Amino acid sequence: MTGVTRSAALPLVALACIGCAHGLHQRSFRHAAYARTDSADPLVRKRVVIGRSVLGRPITAVELGDPDERRSSLVVGVIHGDEPAGRAVVRRLERGPLPRAATLWIIEELNPDGLARHTRQNAHRVDLNRNFPRRWQPLGRPGDQQYSGPRPLSEPESRAASRLILALRPRITVWFHQPLAVTDISGGDARIERRFAALSGLPPRRLTRYPGSAASWENHRLPGSTAFVVELPRGRPPASALERYARAVRQVAA
Ligand SMILES: [Zn+2]
Repeated sequence: MTGVTRSAALPLVALACIGCAHGLHQRSFRHAAYARTDSADPLVRKRVVIGRSVLGRPITAVELGDPDERRSSLVVGVIHGDEPAGRAVVRRLERGPLPRAATLWIIEELNPDGLARHTRQNAHRVDLNRNFPRRWQPLGRPGDQQYSGPRPLSEPESRAASRLILALRPRITVWFHQPLAVTDISGGDARIERRFAALSGLPPRRLTRYPGSAASWENHRLPGSTAFVVELPRGRPPASALERYARAVRQVAA
């Protein structure tokens, strides 16, 4: 499937290019920072806007690898704005070798407003990881640590992620959090989660499965896929750890 065909097949996802005013993504698009250098090489580093935050910040995704490849995986760097370490991991991934047997999608920051304000929640003071439809419940009030919002997918950030996920149907999704330093056995294929734990050095644990969490929703909505939470340690990981985490993602997502 070509990139253009794929875009046409994803009517719910506005694959708008960051660097141009056109609507749908066109395969011929060359972003200055993500251009293919060899026109014979089908692999891409391509950046697209998948939505906007409450305050209008673009939520961008990067596609790495062969756009014709149907096998895709997804990594989300930041969903809680006060847990930013995953952003450094995904940026390391973006600079690394391009996958050939699969496409790797990266959302660096699903919660750019929270990241700018150093808050867990988005600008509506909603915990985005309680705002997904799987077993959603009304939890807390605006600003409470786990306020789940007025209804499932009430927030533009969670809607952007769900649209991309339902369009891509990623085989594996990694959601980065902090600061517990474990790999959560989140309800997908535990062999994949345990493999990531072994490769990353973040030991496997079964954490609480909260209502409305993104990983639980994905594991229920896309049977056969595996979405799991990776809790990075507190603070900014040293370069050696960043490389280890990035390599672990590459290996399980390949
Ligand atoms: Zn978190």
